[in-house]
Amino acid sequence: MQGTVLYGPRDIRFEDRPEPKITKPTDAVIRLSATCICGSDLWSYRGIQSITQPTPMGHEYCGIVEEVGKKVRNVKPGQFVVGSFATSDNTCVICRDGYQSSCVQREFMSEAQAPFLRVPSADGTLVATKDLPPKELLPSLLATSDVLGTGWFAADAANVKPGKTVVVVGDGAVGLLGVLSAKQMGAERIIVMSRHASRQKLALEFGATDIVTERGDEGVGRIKELTKGIGADSVLECVGTQESMMQAIQSTRPGGYVSYVGVPHGVELNGEQLFFAHVHMHGGPAPVRRYLPELIQLVLNEKINPGKVFDLTLPIDQVAEGYRAMDERRAIKTLLRP
Ligand SMILES: [Zn+2]
Repeated sequence: MQGTVLYGPRDIRFEDRPEPKITKPTDAVIRLSATCICGSDLWSYRGIQSITQPTPMGHEYCGIVEEVGKKVRNVKPGQFVVGSFATSDNTCVICRDGYQSSCVQREFMSEAQAPFLRVPSADGTLVATKDLPPKELLPSLLATSDVLGTGWFAADAANVKPGKTVVVVGDGAVGLLGVLSAKQMGAERIIVMSRHASRQKLALEFGATDIVTERGDEGVGRIKELTKGIGADSVLECVGTQESMMQAIQSTRPGGYVSYVGVPHGVELNGEQLFFAHVHMHGGPAPVRRYLPELIQLVLNEKINPGKVFDLTLPIDQVAEGYRAMDERRAIKTLLRP
């Protein structure tokens, strides 16, 4: 088998890898139907997050179960499954509270940009569909695995409710699906902060009502102008930089909610500023597993089409071009066909 390995900044190779095998009785091995490149993969691709050794890549996946370990009960060979980037037993106290991405048995997936994948804690991690889904729904089903699940958590954690005014900071794939999620949850006004024409267009398609192109203090000023001077009810921070986090907090009205789902890089908060901002803050690695059954059903019923964020599809052996296209912002998100 060949799989994707990052050797250093901008050095992605598709090379021989050992074929995944069942190593624990709770494992499953799946044959991927589709996989993709995540915005968070770019942190290490760009060398902002350094790696110490060649690192297999990929944590978004869906596919057909090939083989299961002796203790696996909930999924069986031949079924179509989707899993999260974080494995979970789905039985511990943290999982039962809905925070499966911090499960006591959590492992982060990292070898999914390949034709086959071993999934630990298969019973708690994977969600199977009743029938094999039609091929045209694969991009949207793949999206539930991380990018939609994360956008959905962003909207949920920011307390998006019918009639609310929502701001989405970031026009990457997660931010765009944060827009879709806020729309599904009944938000009345959805303001997206974006400077890129193609992303603005998709945001509008997903339900955005206003676009703000300014950033930093100017961006905050525009949000205040649009919200009678007080700020938004719910703000989704979907980037992870100091500027985006401050933009999010300052765009929120006192008593409002800020969610943060972009992996933070160099973000430091000022205690006094936070105290007087008077906002609820909730974020972290999205507990995608909590939402998977609902999101898969919305896709199967064709109520949502999150797969539209994939604006580039490549055979998986061209994965290096997929990274380049996202790095150079020629693509929002790259889908890889094994
Ligand atoms: Zn757990």
